[in-house]
Parts: sequence; C-alpha cells; structure tokens
Amino acid sequence: MDTQTSIDLSKMETMKCEQCGSSLFSIAYIIKRISAIMSPTGEESIVPVQVYSCDGCSKVPEVLLKGSGLSDAIETSE
Ligand SMILES: [Zn+2]
Repeated sequence: MDTQTSIDLSKMETMKCEQCGSSLFSIAYIIKRISAIMSPTGEESIVPVQVYSCDGCSKVPEVLLKGSGLSDAIETSE
C-alpha cells in the first residue's frame, strides 16, 4: 500500500524555467510585509513565503505565484 513506489518519475513532467529552459531550481523566499494597520496583532510583521527560483536566471515560475497574491511581488517582463 505504499503509493510512493508506484510513482514513475519518467512519466512525470519535469518543470522547466519558462524563461531560460533550465530544470534546476533553488529554494527562495518572498518576504511579505504586513503593516501595523493590516496586521491582526496590530504590529508590523514580516511573513516569509517559500518559492523556487530558477538556478539559471533566478526567475520564479508563474505557476508558483498564481493564487498566492504574490504575482505583484515579482517583476515580470509584461
Ligand atoms: Zn531560468
């Protein structure tokens, strides 16, 4: 009943950087700052959000930013 062993990696899609095509990524953090007015505690605080950035060009894949409200935190080429 070990589902891990039934996963065939060769059938899985390898995620590639949409900008340079590299398939190597590093862990990176986006830091969100919460102002005192917005914060539930009434104090300014920072919240780190873990994402992956391309090893080649440092771009964070769009798919990791979707629905997280972080797309505005990364500069896009649009
Ligand atoms: Zn890249």
